[in-house]
Amino acid sequence: MLKDHSPGERSEYDNEDGLFLAVSYLENPSDVVCPHCGPGRIEVVAYLDATELKHGRRVMAAPEDDYAVVLFCRGCSRGAALSFRKPQPGEDRRAA
Ligand SMILES: [Zn+2]
Repeated sequence: MLKDHSPGERSEYDNEDGLFLAVSYLENPSDVVCPHCGPGRIEVVAYLDATELKHGRRVMAAPEDDYAVVLFCRGCSRGAALSFRKPQPGEDRRAA
């Protein structure tokens, strides 16, 4: 039986897990390692436009330039969205 995610007890990765996932993704995007379950459990759900995501809109995008990758672990049912920005040569960091 599938368990619904109720808002109160949704499994999420914490910040430390997010960092682990980001490093793992950058090392090997085709086999991201879950910090809780190990390799072979995480699938890439979607690539989203990171700029649109900042405004709360989920727009599918190609995994290039500014994008976010949505990951889901089949082992622990945790999901994560990692944002990546293509480094621009000589560009100053934008004020947040
Ligand atoms: Zn997991």
